Amino acid sequence: MAWGRELGVKWFTSAFGLPTSYRKPRNFSFVKILLIHIYLITYSLISFAQTQVSFYTDFEGGNLGEITKVGEYHWRCAVAGESDSDNRNRQASWYYFSVEGVKNQPIAIELTELLGEYNYKPGAHAITSETRPVISYNQDEWRHLTDEEVSWNDEATELILTFTPQENIVWIAHQIPYTTNDLNDLLANYQDHSFLSKKSIGLTSEKKNIWQLTITNPKVSTNQKKVVWLMARQHAWESGTSWVVEGAIRYLLDSATKNGLLDEIIFQVIPMADPDGVDRGGVRFNAFGHDLNRNWDLVIPEEMPEIQAQKVAIAEQADQIDLFVTLHNTERADYIQGPDLPVGKQFYQTMLRQTSFESDEGVRKMPESTTIGKVGRMTVNQALWDEYQIPAYLMELKVEKVNKLNGQRLIPEWLALGRGLVKSASEAVK
Ligand SMILES: [Zn+2]
Repeated sequence: MAWGRELGVKWFTSAFGLPTSYRKPRNFSFVKILLIHIYLITYSLISFAQTQVSFYTDFEGGNLGEITKVGEYHWRCAVAGESDSDNRNRQASWYYFSVEGVKNQPIAIELTELLGEYNYKPGAHAITSETRPVISYNQDEWRHLTDEEVSWNDEATELILTFTPQENIVWIAHQIPYTTNDLNDLLANYQDHSFLSKKSIGLTSEKKNIWQLTITNPKVSTNQKKVVWLMARQHAWESGTSWVVEGAIRYLLDSATKNGLLDEIIFQVIPMADPDGVDRGGVRFNAFGHDLNRNWDLVIPEEMPEIQAQKVAIAEQADQIDLFVTLHNTERADYIQGPDLPVGKQFYQTMLRQTSFESDEGVRKMPESTTIGKVGRMTVNQALWDEYQIPAYLMELKVEKVNKLNGQRLIPEWLALGRGLVKSASEAVK
């Protein structure tokens, strides 16, 4: 049996680095050797289980690039990012993953591969030194990492997260996620509400419904009503804007039904312009690699069914729309961009006065296109104004620190923005 002992010990030696005294067993019986084997395997499995750390992205909106382990609790994690169909305009502004097996353990995660391109200008990166990722232990309550828990490597363009999770599993994301299920839950709450109707205006590239919500008092004739359109998630990563839309919908269906607002105004809402992207944890391009807030001047229906459907739905009401607002998230500045009209100025002023929206530049002048001289580069507001003279505005809301709040927006602040948005839009169109 000598060969058996030797073989077994040899295997253990190479796998676990056994002490020398185990290497040359002389008088051990087969049973003893077997017991030692069992003990060592069990011990190894237990200690392996204790230090086993797993990363997951297998849930709605989950996404992360390549993970490289550089220490026991230290990883480099690439942010996957997305490029368009011409392999340009890469943007890496979405990650959403969980780490399991890290309770009370200081961990370090370096977020890498952040550099990209914006409107064909290389060197852009949507994750910056001021980005404070959010963490959660239940995907429900979130907090931002503090300044002490985040550092920035300017040379390598990398964001480094160092913190100690309080639970065994922690979810980490660029900003608080908002998924299709969140929207479905919200709408299920109000499914019997007579002021809300929902219809599918078409199918996405991956054959999902694109919903349009109509919110108004159905008992009052539509003829005299003003019409406000809201749109969100043309870019999948911009989950903050979905919380704003949720705040708007809740306010409209909980409160505005009682104050007469919906006797006078119809709210048309496209809450998720890119459901495919939201589901897969995408950034800013549809399944064919097209930016859904470009291309409004050059729609290819087969490759951009989302824009096609939305444009048809909006164009049907073009001459009745009093205000159109598309909601977006950006890094470091709140702003509103659109045509130079009283309705836009009024909307901007009320947002400024009544909400956490902060800006000192007035309504930002709207260029004809995002890339002058190149077709297929008009945003929704640029094209709706150009083609139909719809008072269409882009509202950007930052994910970084808001001075008015002395911190980043969390769910209550995003929801409050939605209520303020409804009030500001209503005042603007009256
Ligand atoms: Zn956007």
